[in-house]
Amino acid sequence: MGVSTHNPASSSGNGDAVPTFEPVPVALPVGPQDEVEAPHWEGLKNGELLIQHCANCGRWIWSPSWICPQCHEFDPPWQAVDPVGEVYTWTTTHHVFPASVEFTGRVPYTTAFVSIPSADNRRLMGIVVGDQEIEIGTPVRAWIQPASDLTGGWPVLRWRKVEGERP
Ligand SMILES: [Zn+2]
Repeated sequence: MGVSTHNPASSSGNGDAVPTFEPVPVALPVGPQDEVEAPHWEGLKNGELLIQHCANCGRWIWSPSWICPQCHEFDPPWQAVDPVGEVYTWTTTHHVFPASVEFTGRVPYTTAFVSIPSADNRRLMGIVVGDQEIEIGTPVRAWIQPASDLTGGWPVLRWRKVEGERP
């Protein structure tokens, strides 16, 4: 769709180099909205995808919660997960609407709801960067968009399509 700005400098060398993409604005509040979700955002700052994992019963928990919904243990700890998953469902937005004026001139864009196998298929939402041709089951990998004025000063979780890789 012409939104990828693959950076040759970052992809030369070994094949594991993380490509860069055109920065995408945010249309919703970003950064921790309360204390309970702060570790997730701090994880993104460190290049990690953190999800809560109950130390008592082993349940993976998303969205962030003070209490395990299964065993009611307080303050479930956070754990870094392999930031790969597959598309559970997705939608493409073709028209800017009042809550997304930041996207004026940037439509269409695709938002994916992604299952994370290493976190018992908890599902996280994010805009797809790069190749937008996805379908249910498409393997994707996190791309943490660096903090900038476009993102309210916080890094933001995005998804990029992965070719030839299964989660
Ligand atoms: Zn629990």
